[in-house]
Amino acid sequence: MPEVKLTEEYGFCFGVRRALEIALTNLERGISFDSLGPIIHNEYVVGELRRKGVEVVDSIEQSKKSHVLVRTHGVPPEIYERAKEFGKTIIDCTCPFVAKAQWWAKKFYEEGYVVLVIGTKDHPEVIGIVGQTEGKALVVSSQKELDVSLIRNKRVGVVAQTTSRLDMVEDIMGLLVKEANEVRFANTRCNTTQRRQDEVEELSREVEVMVIVGGKNSSNTRRLYEIASRNCKRAYLIEFPNELMEEWFYNVSTVGVSAGASTPPEIVEEVYKKINILLKGGTYGERKVDEG
Ligand code: SF4
Repeated sequence: MPEVKLTEEYGFCFGVRRALEIALTNLERGISFDSLGPIIHNEYVVGELRRKGVEVVDSIEQSKKSHVLVRTHGVPPEIYERAKEFGKTIIDCTCPFVAKAQWWAKKFYEEGYVVLVIGTKDHPEVIGIVGQTEGKALVVSSQKELDVSLIRNKRVGVVAQTTSRLDMVEDIMGLLVKEANEVRFANTRCNTTQRRQDEVEELSREVEVMVIVGGKNSSNTRRLYEIASRNCKRAYLIEFPNELMEEWFYNVSTVGVSAGASTPPEIVEEVYKKINILLKGGTYGERKVDEG
């Protein structure tokens, strides 16, 4: 019998749920606000909020409203200063796990460590973390990106982007331990992310096809897809159920499904349902489903 296996962790993570609750509570109270960047990497959710009047802006000054929402990724300190300057109130949805990474980066910096962030340089979360160090932190995502002369015989304080893969962290820490004088590591990887990555690691080894559901700009979704692709030759990344192709499932008997932290659970469940139908040789959508 063909089988579709869904990881236990899927749907919104704690940080995203919290951000959406804060946003909706403010709307219910009649507070109108804009969002500094999309609240999550999900077109469907961003569209729903837009219908309720929440526009996505690129900067504080671009917003015409009195309140501006800071999303789970957090922002550098100068954004709070800019908000004050422009008389705006910040609705702060920075995920507590991201806030922890910001706190450690600031602490290491103030204690005179060379701060090293393991992550992707241009990711908003990393920009917010680097901002805690007056822009001085080094950012690398692999050993080969690290200029060893900047850490050799130095005291180095390390924080990780919440979504960073364990193997990335281990790879870079290996070099630091060899070259630096002192290394302090604040484990700022997020538990939810770790659990999802572990589940995807395991499931993608077992199945013939692996489908990851989530925003293509979402860092945690992309990491899941990278893990799945390493273990399973037929791994796909989709945002919506209508991207599933019937031919991916011809003569296939096991499929794994997982999703990034900003993917609404109802979309994951729809994908799961659709794959089940396709595996049984049925069709989906406008055409009649034959589950025979
Ligand atoms: S993935 Fe983790 S760090 Fe990111 S928003 Fe969700 S709970 Fe927070």
